[in-house]
Amino acid sequence: MTGDDPRRSIPRTDVLLGLPEVLDARDRLGEIRIRGIIHDVQARARRGELAPSAVGSEVVAAVRGESASSLGAVLNATGVIVHTNLGRAPLSDTAVAAVVEASGYVDVELDLASGKRSTRGVGVREALVRACPAAGDTLVVNNGAAALMLACTAFAAGREVVISRGEMIEIGAGFRLTDLIVSTGVRLREVGTTNRTHLRDYADAFSPAGLSPGAGLPPGAGQYDPRSVEHHVGAILKVHPSNFRVQGFTASAGLSELRDLAHQYGVPLIVDLGSGLLHHDQALPDEPDATSALEAGADVVIASGDKLLGGPQAGILLGDKDVIARLATHPLARAVRTDKLTLAALEATLTGPQPPVTRYLHVDPERVKQRTERLAGELGVPIVECDGRVGGGGAPGVRLPGWALRLPVSVAGPLRTGDPAVLARVHADACLVDLRCIPERDDERLLTALRAQIPAS
Ligand SMILES: *Cc1c(COP(=O)(O)O)cnc(C)c1O
Repeated sequence: MTGDDPRRSIPRTDVLLGLPEVLDARDRLGEIRIRGIIHDVQARARRGELAPSAVGSEVVAAVRGESASSLGAVLNATGVIVHTNLGRAPLSDTAVAAVVEASGYVDVELDLASGKRSTRGVGVREALVRACPAAGDTLVVNNGAAALMLACTAFAAGREVVISRGEMIEIGAGFRLTDLIVSTGVRLREVGTTNRTHLRDYADAFSPAGLSPGAGLPPGAGQYDPRSVEHHVGAILKVHPSNFRVQGFTASAGLSELRDLAHQYGVPLIVDLGSGLLHHDQALPDEPDATSALEAGADVVIASGDKLLGGPQAGILLGDKDVIARLATHPLARAVRTDKLTLAALEATLTGPQPPVTRYLHVDPERVKQRTERLAGELGVPIVECDGRVGGGGAPGVRLPGWALRLPVSVAGPLRTGDPAVLARVHADACLVDLRCIPERDDERLLTALRAQIPAS
């Protein structure tokens, strides 16, 4: 630097830290984050991207717009209810309040009356059993994948899990359930084909010589009796193909016949539903639910908390008391334990008012149309019919009738980076703004964001 280098006039860190607006933001953001922001702005000035005289005001603007986490709120205008890239289920206000309450010291493992230690997660357990009485007991873990891992390990470590080739699914971001299962030390026993798997395919998996029970073994081996064989199978696993559909010449084994087979050999039937519907929902006629699966004979049902259940990320295991006790006392259960914030949010989701996911699923298309028409009138843009989707891990192929604003495709990018950020659906060379998953109270914020991108008419 020479004596008259303008970079010499870049304000020093201690001067910037002393600005009143920066001092105010310190409690909210913390020293480390504030210093990071200051250093970034100073670096831009050093590179010549910013005049030294503008550094102070730039730092003030940056701390004002900064939130304590790098996660920013997005208005979901895609019409996709459980949007994997937007954090799946938004929590209800009641669940948010429960999370805030649980974020301090709470009686998560303390009985205040006796002063003694209590069992973690009792509230959520009772709420789940009340919501799904077909389950004798439940266990909540970190997420659906963790629940599957725990069930496979506890019941089949070192042995085989029998699974149909039509149910070997990839759940997103390149993760395959089959890889996950194998990583637990369980061997996969694939049966059937992509489109058709029959009960006899499952039955064959139990026979040491590939024979069905009752069939003859090679000469001299005597009659094959299933109960006398220390068999290699630990469990039968039925997985709901939650993100695709196979149509046409298809067949699969029913839960009750699989249950009979499993019990004939003394192994459990594990059913991974994915979606987390506890009861049948008429809006999704083909989507399986936990109550029906348990009644049909599943020993353990696995579901996610943040799909159609509409709660926080969690893995839910439902079954009878003995089965759940075996899972809960397995050492791995401690490694996939849920935190108190999740327990609070899940209990509030189960006991409180309908969560947003349920409301968006059952939204009245006429009401969406009215709201969309009002915004369209303000902006001078057309509206079009637009189907919503359940999204991530539920009801593939189901279309939910609705409406959207039709905007030029060129505004999709600016809307994403605007304030508030709006994620629209880009389809057939248009940017479609679907209000299904936007709370009505945010309509004005949405309008502001759209106005910033749409030329006044
Ligand atoms: C989503 C899903 C999972 C994984 O659950 P996460 O909660 O995402 O870990 C497992 N199985 C099925 C069938 C799913 O749909």
